[in-house]
Amino acid sequence: GLPVRCFAGEKGRDRALKTGSAEIARLLARPLEELVAEADSLRRLRHGDGVWIRGLLEFTNRCTCNCLYCGLRAANGRLGRYSLTEEEILLSVRAGFARGLGTFVLQGGEDPDWTTDRLCRLVEAIKVETEGRAAVTLSCGIKSRGDYRRLVACGADRYLLRFETADPALHERLRGGISLRRRLQALDDLREEGFELGSGFMVGLPGETEAVRVANLELCRDLALDMVGIGPFIANPDTPLAGEASGTLEATVRMTAALRLLLPDANIPATTAAGSLFSQGREAMLGAGANVLMPNVTPLAYRERYLLYPGKDTITQDGIQELEAIAAHLEELGRRADLGRGDSPSRTRTN
Ligand code: SAM
Ligand code: SF4
Repeated sequence: GLPVRCFAGEKGRDRALKTGSAEIARLLARPLEELVAEADSLRRLRHGDGVWIRGLLEFTNRCTCNCLYCGLRAANGRLGRYSLTEEEILLSVRAGFARGLGTFVLQGGEDPDWTTDRLCRLVEAIKVETEGRAAVTLSCGIKSRGDYRRLVACGADRYLLRFETADPALHERLRGGISLRRRLQALDDLREEGFELGSGFMVGLPGETEAVRVANLELCRDLALDMVGIGPFIANPDTPLAGEASGTLEATVRMTAALRLLLPDANIPATTAAGSLFSQGREAMLGAGANVLMPNVTPLAYRERYLLYPGKDTITQDGIQELEAIAAHLEELGRRADLGRGDSPSRTRTN
């Protein structure tokens, strides 16, 4: 049977919100243009003009969690639910790999039908399909350390699990009672089991203060993340946060630039949320230190049901058909699409 709530594991009280380092507070207070220019030149120095292109597969919109911000939350009865079959996923992978994509990101809700066994078989099948050459990134929530171990053993390379906010009280409230401490335990487990590690947060969540912004950045730095995903919070009318203010472009760009300066080697995507809320959102992130794009390669028939927030801009665009347009667009920005695996520099460095 289905568990009634998502995997929370051990309960525990969170430690208090860190006071935040003065250094990061000063960084955040700098004039935006200055911050962006410095982040952009550091990005060029460390990563060059290449932008890693990852194929994003939103493989299930079913979720047992009840995060207050998210349209996939279990209590949202207005959403038609789907889960891709293994065959559908492999068809997209085959098409993407044929076009040169070197990373596939499997993102979904915490869906108990996708057992760890099933996920392992899927990862193995993707590796076979891509002759062992494509990297597989998973983003499917909190699991036990043993589950993470099995996924690594089956060939999964990377895992994305945003901590969402570094404020323990806010985290617990917005994530339906699941503690920040539990989320950070999962991040620890992922690292220990050998995943290349991605995390991050939403910008402009209701209740976010300057201290939270500083703590968000500090936590990313302290976790020494290989990948950092951030994006503006976008209020969804079918959630308890309907009507709240969304994050701003300026704050998103400021946080992107600060992250680049704090984590010079990290892979930082220009995210869908930024592109959905603001017409030049992704371009602005690319100009402020970001070096990754994740075009959606989910079969089109399912797109409109992976609705985390309204106005999601990838609903009619086929990521695979769009690869050439993306490459041309990046060229106009003085950048270059790079379809390779794009492993974390911390993993590929030889010294
Ligand atoms: N279920 C997994 C998890 O929560 O880690 C992966 C899928 S979840 C939909 C991916 C990300 O979507 C979350 O980490 C969250 O930051 C983001 N997200 C959810 N609702 C959002 C909203 N209303 N606005 C912006 N981002 C949102
Ligand atoms: Fe589920 Fe992730 Fe959405 Fe939370 S953010 S409701 S875990 S899909």
